[in-house]
Order: sequence, then structure tokens, then C-alpha cells
Amino acid sequence: MGKIDLQGMDIEEITNLLKQLQEPEYRARQLFQWIHQKAAISFAEMTNIPKSLQAKLASLRVFEPPKIAKIRQSQLDDTVKYLLTLSDGNTVETVRMSYLGKDIKDRHTVCVSSQVGCAMGCVFCATGLSGWRRNLTTGEILAQVLMAQRELQKASSEEKITNVVFMGMGEPLLNYENVLKAIHLLNNPLGLNIGMRKITVSTCGLVPQIYKLAEEKLPIVLAISLHAPIDMLRNKLLPINKKYPIKMLMEACRHYIQSTGRRITFEYALIADVNDSIHHAEKLANILSGLNANVNLIPLNNVEDNVEGTGLRRSSKSKAQAFLNNLKRAGIEATFREEKGSDIEAACGQLRRRGVEEDVFS
Ligand code: SF4
Repeated sequence: MGKIDLQGMDIEEITNLLKQLQEPEYRARQLFQWIHQKAAISFAEMTNIPKSLQAKLASLRVFEPPKIAKIRQSQLDDTVKYLLTLSDGNTVETVRMSYLGKDIKDRHTVCVSSQVGCAMGCVFCATGLSGWRRNLTTGEILAQVLMAQRELQKASSEEKITNVVFMGMGEPLLNYENVLKAIHLLNNPLGLNIGMRKITVSTCGLVPQIYKLAEEKLPIVLAISLHAPIDMLRNKLLPINKKYPIKMLMEACRHYIQSTGRRITFEYALIADVNDSIHHAEKLANILSGLNANVNLIPLNNVEDNVEGTGLRRSSKSKAQAFLNNLKRAGIEATFREEKGSDIEAACGQLRRRGVEEDVFS
């Protein structure tokens, strides 16, 4: 049995733990609310939990939230990147992006990591460069959002995390069970109460897991990192395509849309002279034709090692605009994704597993 972690437990599991400790069951709700609603990080904060129970739980070491090792604030926008040290010394990165508008309601999105590193090896992604170490537990996934919530409330007690995207380090669908449980905990009305529709899970295209996820029938947003409309090119950019080529992937997407009634978002990073021609736009429109889908066009972010190793550069503004126009003309809904935190390597594909000692945050 793995280590017990209160942050990853639902009320029923906490109730069972309390029964074993011969403590009253109603405390489970209180503990859950302290952790998930008030984002407590120590028993000492839990004023209605008796000291004796606090001591009992502390001796079992069931509550050891990750520690913030470094914080980096973007100078360009409201993006903040956190380096977190997990209880075994591994580190992960979490990003909070705030969208504050005059006309729109404030939105605070947390981009969470689901694995330490990643085994998928997508060539444009910094995380893939450092390899895979392990899956995060449900508690470690939740802890990232709770940490962001706590930090946000330091600035204003009214503010609340509104959206969660599984687009940080790792392939979420390779950590399926823990990610799924984290989604349910995030959605719990006694906790953060984040709407399912405000939760996005991104995948590089793991076909069997897409079919499995379809069966859950969750109203979450599924995002597919597509980045190329032709197998020969996608094989080079995302090696997983050799196992699950575009035709198989699109069949899985069609099934997902039919089963869930939800639209799929396709992520497409525009890379100069690689995937940004009119021909690519037409091919993309072709494979998405008739599908309930939208395309997020992303300006490629610089990943130092990658740029040196592969020569990948972002597309020019005019080429990106022409690409977008072509998709629209073909009846495909498409937009440019707003760039956030690129100066602190917090943008898409820029997170990586690194030791605190490397001090890359400075
Ligand atoms: S893009 Fe996602 S799946 Fe691909 S290497 Fe990076 S973290 Fe892994």
C-alpha cells in the first residue's frame, strides 16, 4: 500500500481512516473542508480539530504538502511559476495564470503537472527532454491547486482558482487513475468546487485512454496536442504518433465526441517552415472537417536546448495569420491562444524537471 496522503483522499476514505483511529466520523468532513476549502497546510490551522487528533494524524505523517522552493513572477503579465519540492525530494512546476479584465469576470487558471518528467519525448517540449521519473499521487496533483489557491488568497481573500488545466509536466492520461480522482476532488462542492467544464485534460494522443475517458462521460474539456496533420511530420514531432497514427487518433476523437457530447480542442503549435504552410492548414481542415472541434493555435515557445538541437522556431505573425484565415475559410473554428509567462519559461512546453540546486529560477 502506498503512503496515505490526506490531500488525495475523499470524505469516505478519511472517514475510514478516522474509524481505524477510533475517532468520530463527522471529523472527516471538517478535515476535508480544512484541506480543500480553506487550503490549510498544517494541522495547527485546523482550529476545530482537537489537539489530540491533530497529534495522532501528525504522528502518522499523512499530511505533508509539497513545499514551495521558488516563486517566479512574470514581468509581462500576471503569470506566476512555482517550483515545488515533493516529500521525496523530487520537484515539479506549477503555473498560475490570471486573466483580469474590465469586462470579464476574473479568471485564475492553474496549470498542473501530473508526472515528474515525461516519457513521451515530444521534440518541442522541455519536459520531454528530461525523461520520466514517476507519476504524481492524487494528493500531489491536488496540492498544486491548493497551494495556488492559498497564494492567491494572500493577495485577496475574495479570489478563487476558477480553472485547472492538466498541461504541465507529464502526460496526464498515463497517470489515469490519479488524474481522474483529482478531477473529482477538485469538483467536490465541499472543496474547491471547480466546475467540470472548467477543467481541461490535455493528451498527446493516447488512443486507448481516450476511449476509456469517453466512458467516464465527464463534461471536462479534452485537449489533443495535435501539432501536425500528416503522419510523416507528426511522427517526428510527437513520437507517440508512430503507435497511434492520425487516423486512429481521429477515430478515437470522433467516438469521444459522440459518447460525451463534448467538443474537443486541438492544440497546434505553429513552427516556422515545419507545420505552418497553407498546405498544412488545408490538411488540418480536412481531418477536422465535420468534427465538433476547435483549434487553439499556439506560438511556439523557445526551449533553449530544443532550438539548438532541432532548429525549431516560431512562425512569423503573417504566416500564423494566414494559417488561421485558411482554417476559418474552411469552416473550422480556430483562435490564437493568448501567450502567458513566456519570460519565466512558464508557457506551454517550457516546464521541465529540474533540481532546485540548478537555480534556474533566478
Ligand atoms: S508535450 Fe506533454 S506529452 Fe509531450 S513531452 Fe511534453 S509533457 Fe510530455
